[in-house]
Amino acid sequence: MRGDGVRVLIVGGGVAGLATVAALREWGATVDVVERTPGPADSGTGIYLTGNATRMLGALGLWEPVADVAVEIKRQRSANQRGRRLFDIDVAALWQGVGPCVSLSRAQLHRALLAGVGDAPIRWGRQPVALVREGSLVAVKFDDDSTERYDLVIGADGVNSTVRRLAFGGLTARSLGQYAYRWVAPRIEDEPVWSVQLGRGRQFLTIPISAEQTYCYYNDGPAADRPGWRDELAATFTEPVAMMLKALDADDHTLHAGPNQEVVLDSWARGPVLLIGDAAHATSPNMAQGAAMALEDAFVLADSLAAAGSLAEALSGYEARRRPRTDWVLAQTHRRDKATGLPPALRDLVLRRLGEQMFRSNYGPLFAQP
Ligand SMILES: Cc1cc2nc3c(=O)[nH]c(=O)nc-3n(C[C@H](O)[C@H](O)[C@H](O)COP(=O)(O)OP(=O)(O)OC[C@H]3O[C@@H](n4cnc5c(N)ncnc54)[C@H](O)[C@@H]3O)c2cc1C
Repeated sequence: MRGDGVRVLIVGGGVAGLATVAALREWGATVDVVERTPGPADSGTGIYLTGNATRMLGALGLWEPVADVAVEIKRQRSANQRGRRLFDIDVAALWQGVGPCVSLSRAQLHRALLAGVGDAPIRWGRQPVALVREGSLVAVKFDDDSTERYDLVIGADGVNSTVRRLAFGGLTARSLGQYAYRWVAPRIEDEPVWSVQLGRGRQFLTIPISAEQTYCYYNDGPAADRPGWRDELAATFTEPVAMMLKALDADDHTLHAGPNQEVVLDSWARGPVLLIGDAAHATSPNMAQGAAMALEDAFVLADSLAAAGSLAEALSGYEARRRPRTDWVLAQTHRRDKATGLPPALRDLVLRRLGEQMFRSNYGPLFAQP
């Protein structure tokens, strides 16, 4: 079906929302975007995109501005909390034929996606406050008291989605019992390596995101922010932790902290209101699949809309096609969290012997096209 005459509202101008704008470019619908923040993000930390994410950026015509600024990551290195090697993965080889793995700052990713969607009509600083079904349409009331009617409303508004709250009976994200701290520090090594140290239920990760910068990620077990976390981090892990913490002490304006949460829903649609990206299926970030799943959602949604005879058929076809993949990622993130929660001696033994094999099997089904 063609989108001519169809009115679509996308709520959220993040990865999923902007990718959907790009994906729907050729379909012919009138697409509005509302984004709660007042303008493009100029802060944030880093993000790692695996090969299935960069493949989708290519398919959506968004790769070039990302490639211009991203660092290609060639290896992922896993060590225990004393810095002893557990296993290494040549990710350039693993994802060969799919796409390169890259990292960059979140602000740069956002700018690149905005550049890629060109003059898309984004209404900044705007959000919905009510969604009401009127026959086949949805009347959306915004926070400036205006109301507009749409054939399709897409909630791409993240893990704590307002669209989900308004249209899905208030279903909320659930806590994974982890709290994550992220910041940016000076780059420490020339080699473009993703490097993690595993402690029990804790991880400390560094990734270069530019010629000058390293993105640091730490998550611990308790699900709340605690004043002593820096001391615990320094006491648990080995270098480069102290160096990275020193950078944070000198300049903590890049520090972002928050709980890791997941979203599990029986269905992603309520009539013509659809959730995509984190709003529909956020998971633990331990597989770095959030952006990839959001980009794949956009691509498959556009494909399903073009192929179906009606909106209802498109949305059910879309969900049937996406579910196996997002369910797979959810299950693997649980397995990974379980493995890192094992007693360290047992975990080290398992990961030295089977880490590489487990890693490959975690990602295996994601090499195929979505
Ligand atoms: C600690 C941590 C580390 C992560 N690391 C990675 C990683 O390395 N690689 C990776 O692929 N994924 C990572 N993820 C996951 C990734 O960030 C998300 O999966 C991805 O951003 C999902 O995109 P999205 O567009 O669905 O949501 P978001 O990126 O959250 O975008 C939602 C957008 O909607 C806007 N919005 C929210 N509410 C409203 C509203 N009411 N009205 C209008 N707009 C609204 C927001 O301002 C935002 O712009 C990580 C997640 C966490 C928590």
